[in-house]
Amino acid sequence: MAEVKTQEFVAASGAAMQNPTLRRALRQVGTGFNGARLEAIDEVGPQLWEEWREEAQRIKRHTIDHLDYYLEMLHDNVTKAGGQVHFARDAAEANGIVAELARTRQVKLATKSKSMVSEELDLNQALEGIGVEVFETDLGEYIIQLAGETPSHLVAPALHKTKEQVAELFNDQLGVPLTDDIEEMARTAREALRQKFLQADLGISGANFLVAETGTLVIITNEGNGRLCTSAPRLHIGITGMEKVIPSVQDLALFLRLLPRSATGQRLTSYVSMVSGPRRSDDEDGPEEFHLVLVDNGRSKLLADPDLRESLYCIRCGACLNICPVYQKIGGHAYGWVYPGPIGAIVSPTLVGLKQAKDLPQASSLCGACREACPVKINIPRMLLHLRHKLAESQDPEEKSTSAMDSLAARGYTWLMNNPSALTALGKLGRAAQQPLAGKGKIEKLPLPLVSQWTKTRDLPLLPQRTFREIWAQELGQAGSSIASPTSRDTESRDAGSGG
Ligand code: SF4
Repeated sequence: MAEVKTQEFVAASGAAMQNPTLRRALRQVGTGFNGARLEAIDEVGPQLWEEWREEAQRIKRHTIDHLDYYLEMLHDNVTKAGGQVHFARDAAEANGIVAELARTRQVKLATKSKSMVSEELDLNQALEGIGVEVFETDLGEYIIQLAGETPSHLVAPALHKTKEQVAELFNDQLGVPLTDDIEEMARTAREALRQKFLQADLGISGANFLVAETGTLVIITNEGNGRLCTSAPRLHIGITGMEKVIPSVQDLALFLRLLPRSATGQRLTSYVSMVSGPRRSDDEDGPEEFHLVLVDNGRSKLLADPDLRESLYCIRCGACLNICPVYQKIGGHAYGWVYPGPIGAIVSPTLVGLKQAKDLPQASSLCGACREACPVKINIPRMLLHLRHKLAESQDPEEKSTSAMDSLAARGYTWLMNNPSALTALGKLGRAAQQPLAGKGKIEKLPLPLVSQWTKTRDLPLLPQRTFREIWAQELGQAGSSIASPTSRDTESRDAGSGG
């Protein structure tokens, strides 16, 4: 399995925020991908878009609730089409199946189209371990393979790299002159990969969807590399998570409308490739053998948990990453494992272990933007809160996310909110105490436990000179007899809260 660095999230995200080149590269996330998504939704019309999302969620919920039934249907139909299905419990088993197929077919060179599951399994390393050369053929994946890095985004793996960095990489690794022309760089990659497509014995692909009723593997790409990987070599192995199954071709039509629009704002990707078994006698091309490896690797745990099962509806469009204010600041590598962003903060803790990834569910402002953007209407904030609750209640001291100090602070806050006169008194005390710290109209650093972590990188506004309750009593309360003076305990508490 891919190396897990989720424990380093706090340090890695801090370092990412201090990296100006990364911040520059990440600018396109919000304005580029997210902007294009919003334009695509405008074109469809918000009402119809909403109907599509509802329907997509209904299909995914139904399929995941009957996953055993649809996996069996998929298995039968892939087999009928002449392919072979393998079920893998974990990364070791999945890598073992692929390695054994490669070994027994004397594979020397493999081309691979983009597959996040293969990243999760660290499949390249497993194949290289038995002497198979593996070439990534998606341009973004090719770039990060040359750089010896991992993907930082579900859809755009090399999003963290600027074009200048890619130019230097190509210059260094491929010996081509430096250029700032992106088309020129794409041409370089195409030429480097062309021979590999022709030489490969094995083509490996992921799957965006698996259609149960026809036993079809579907991949959508913009570069055509997926089609070459699945049709040119004599052996094709599709490898993907078991949650990618959908019931029918009719359902596929809906997801083909939703996924590209949510990912890149496109109406349809340039290539939609559908593979149903190996080549038939009258086919012009295609592999002699087709194998489908369906990977569990912790997904059963998500399936068994009614609070997290919804995360299996994910179609990996990346829209929640693109809109997330946290992802936009730190990028994908800081999350420390294959799946970054809001959806990664849910699936990674379950797949790699809650103890190792306990900081990820905290990496959210719970603004709800991810839920709004998700084409399958996955309620990400609810699941983040669920994981936070689990961590706070954990009896394992290494897993528990809250300290005795946090509990004390929460109890103190509850008491304060229930005692308006104490809150008023504290407000007065705070206004007096803030004067020496006030600096230039804001509090820059507050030397208190817990709060100092927050003010280390953020400014606190000063408490206002008059609270809302004082303004009300002095001015607004006299504005008309129809407006009652706030004398009740409830109102007093609210007013004091808003004014500090
Ligand atoms: S959770 Fe939703 S928005 Fe995020 S990647 Fe998955 S499908 Fe896309």
